[in-house]
Amino acid sequence: MSKADLERYQAALQQLRLRLTGDVTHLVDEAIRGQENAKRTPAADLADQGSDSYEHEFTLSLLQNQEQTLEEIDEALERLRLGTFGRCEECGTAIARARLQALPYTRHCVHCARKLQ
Ligand SMILES: [Zn+2]
Repeated sequence: MSKADLERYQAALQQLRLRLTGDVTHLVDEAIRGQENAKRTPAADLADQGSDSYEHEFTLSLLQNQEQTLEEIDEALERLRLGTFGRCEECGTAIARARLQALPYTRHCVHCARKLQ
């Protein structure tokens, strides 16, 4: 992989990271607000709480996925520094360029990713 390619992937990863950290902050706010609303809900409104807590759980699970993706991005940035970026962690072959462009933080080639799913 050329230096220009590596720089492009690094820029893409950092952009993605910035976007996700912005979204995560937003989601944390929403999750906290959800908890506060639940505390303030008067007994008469208890019937509505079912759907509220479902939405709350949904927000939390989104948050978890984003944190996971952030970790993947950080590890991909680390692989860029170490010079192992773009190689499949499972079989060691080079990951296809189209796959890296779509998912710059992926650690597996398309073949191993399917196998591992
Ligand atoms: Zn592989």
